[in-house]
This record gives sequence, C-alpha cells and structure tokens, in this order.
Amino acid sequence: MTRVYLDHNATTPVDPAVLDAMLPYFSADFANASSIHTPGQRARAAAETAREQVAALLHAKPAEIIFTSGGTESDNHAIFGSVAQALLPVRREPLPATAPTRPATNAPTPPSSSSTSFTSGSAAPHLITTAIEHEAVLNTCQALEQQGVAVTYLSVNRDGLVDPQELRAALRPETALITIMHANNELGVLQPLAEIGRIAKEHKIPFHTDAVQSAGKIPLDVNALHADLLSLSAHKLYGPKGVGALYVRTGVKVQQLLYGGHHQRGFRPGTENVAGIVGLGKAAELTQHSLASDAARISALRDQLERGLLERIPHTRVNAANAPRTPNTANILFSGIAGEALVIALDLKGIACSVGAACSSGAVEPSHVLTAIGLSHDEAKSSLRFSLGRHTTAAEITFALDTIPHVVAQLRALSPINETHRAAP
Ligand code: PLP
Repeated sequence: MTRVYLDHNATTPVDPAVLDAMLPYFSADFANASSIHTPGQRARAAAETAREQVAALLHAKPAEIIFTSGGTESDNHAIFGSVAQALLPVRREPLPATAPTRPATNAPTPPSSSSTSFTSGSAAPHLITTAIEHEAVLNTCQALEQQGVAVTYLSVNRDGLVDPQELRAALRPETALITIMHANNELGVLQPLAEIGRIAKEHKIPFHTDAVQSAGKIPLDVNALHADLLSLSAHKLYGPKGVGALYVRTGVKVQQLLYGGHHQRGFRPGTENVAGIVGLGKAAELTQHSLASDAARISALRDQLERGLLERIPHTRVNAANAPRTPNTANILFSGIAGEALVIALDLKGIACSVGAACSSGAVEPSHVLTAIGLSHDEAKSSLRFSLGRHTTAAEITFALDTIPHVVAQLRALSPINETHRAAP
C-alpha cells in the first residue's frame, strides 16, 4: 500500500545523517560527559559541538543554549522560571510613564510550580500569552493561574494573528513575561514576532517564544526577533524525540526548574543525553544548509495541495489562508465532515494527517486554535491539518489529490449533516 506521511508537525523522521552522528554515543562513545577521563571528555566535546550548532541556527552564543528534554520542558522552564524570578525581591526597573512602583514581593521563592505564593496585598506576577498557544504553554500558564498568577490570553483575528496594539494595552507594571509562539502548530501562522519583541524590549519585559514549529522551517535570529527566551525541539526538525533546547539571552535571569548535579552549570542538571544532544546539533546543522531550498520546494507542494483540494472539493476552505505561514502547513475545512472520521478514512487509504484537536476522556474537543480564529464548533471539528516535510514528493501530493476528494465524497454521502455538501468531486 502507498503510504503518504503528511503529519510532519506532529513529528519528523530522524534524518539518516542525524542517526549516523548519534550512533557512536550509544556504544563506543557512551561515556558520561561529566567524567574527567578521556572517554568522558570525548562525550563532552560532542555535546559542546552540538551546543555550537544549535546556537548557530539561532544566531545565538553557545553559552546561551541549555539542553532540555524537549519543547515542553523548555516552555515550562521559561515560564515557571520567569515567574519565580519575578518573585525575587530585586528584579527590573519599573515600567516608565504612569506605571506605579512595583510592590514589594515575598522572599526568594523556590522555582517549582508548587511553591509560588504571594504576600497578601502585593500584586501577583502577570503573564501575557495568546489563546492559540500549544498546551505546553497554555497548561503551564493555567497551572500558574491556579496559584494566583494573573494571565492575559490575547485574542487572534480570523487569520490567527495577534494584534500588537492589544499586547501594548495588556502590559502591566507587574508583567513578568510575554510568551507568544512563533509558528502555530495547527495553522502554521507566523506571529509578528519582531514587532512583539520590540514592544517587550521597549518595556523591559522578558520575552519568550515557543519556536518549536518554526525552527527548521524558516530562518530564526533571536536578535532580529528580540527574543530573550526561545524553545525548540529536536523531533520537529528531523532529530530525535526527547531532546530540545532553551535559549536564554545573556543577562536575562530565569530561575532553574530542576535541582541536582552540576550539569549545564547546575542550571539544568541531569546526566546529559549525549546521543540526543548530538542528534539535535546535527539536525540544526543540516537544517541550516537545506532550509532555503526545502522551504521553496515544500511551499510549492503545499500550495499545489491547497489549490487542488479547493478546485476538486466543493465547500472547502483553507483556514488562516491570508496569514504569513510556515511553508509546510495546510489546515483545511471540509464542511459537513467529521474530522476524525476523515482522518481514519484517509489512513485506510494510506494518508497520514491529523485533526488539530486534543483528545481527552474519549471525547474529541474542537481545537482551541480553530475556535479562537472564529470557527464554529462544527467547522473546527471538520478541519484537518496536512503538514508536509523534507521528503514529501510531487508524486505523493498527486496521490493525495487523487484520493482525498473521493474519500470526502464518500463520507459526505453517508453524513446526515448537510445535503448541500454531497456534490460529487
Ligand atoms: N510547542 C509546540 C508549538 C509544539 O508543536 C509542540 C509539540 O507538538 C511542543 C511545544 C512540545 O514539544 P515536545 O514534543 O518536544 O515536548
């Protein structure tokens, strides 16, 4: 059976060159990178080379890269760590103009999520994020909210874009962090990060971005984006699962999340996953070389897929079509279809794609991202994400265009939802 994988935003295959680079660190070069003997020093050198490779991808300094277990940890560290930092007695200058003096906070607080507390009468730290973040950010913010942290969730327009003026209006003297994702995982929409970063810088508020879905797809420069903290994950850029990085700009203070040994200067302890780190480094290096040509080729295929589906299938629409987007992502609304049923039917035909929905307790809720851009419950549940990758071919897109219209027509014929959607492809 022909198998076409169009779910690269969920994860990517490990590039063969990445696997080759990793393999020695499972066997011959297995030593602990903290050991002072020669094998240990070889592992250390490999991890430090990877740090340089990741830094180069971001136009950062190697010392600004912290290896983590992936995007989720990086996001948690940036957010919990910034709030814990804000609770220390001395922090940053207060906001200019009308901003009241920052109230005194309680004594240094351990950074763990379970330990946040506020002196009665003092303003709790405030976070600004968006309604369309990944759960790694949203649920972290919600956990902090339960502990008394104030969180503003910026809305987005029909194309999934934040309005920088809304961000300005949301700023408070006690805003401890602005965390706004770069590329959205469901829509591919790219936020105006440079402008957002400028606003954060102007007000001396730390700015974190979840770049898990943009790293490896578009060029990234932490200075152009004015990012103080940035999360990325290896498995979204043809590296292994379970390893990622947090960029922390020199001079930006974030409390650590984990306590343990002296690894990574004690800031992120735990014996380093050298093979994974080497894989992330190699993936970052490969990405830098192939990014421009990949982006041009993949976006041409993505556009062909979108055009072809719209031409062949009535009552079909591209979500967030007018926004700047990552080159590989298409989110398409097939009116009158249950998205999960279409994913399963397409899987039976050999096509892997996804609904942008979280499955909890057996019930698939409509995607919070799609409802945030104004889709109704039914429209959100009728939308599918196709995400292309480095190895997607023109033949695979042709196969998808030959297959999807028939499957949609079959499902519509069975569906009691809407007679008008039953037109044959
Ligand atoms: N942030 C975004 C935007 C993502 O798409 C993902 C994964 O899907 C994550 C964070 C979490 O990354 P990880 O799977 O490495 O924990």
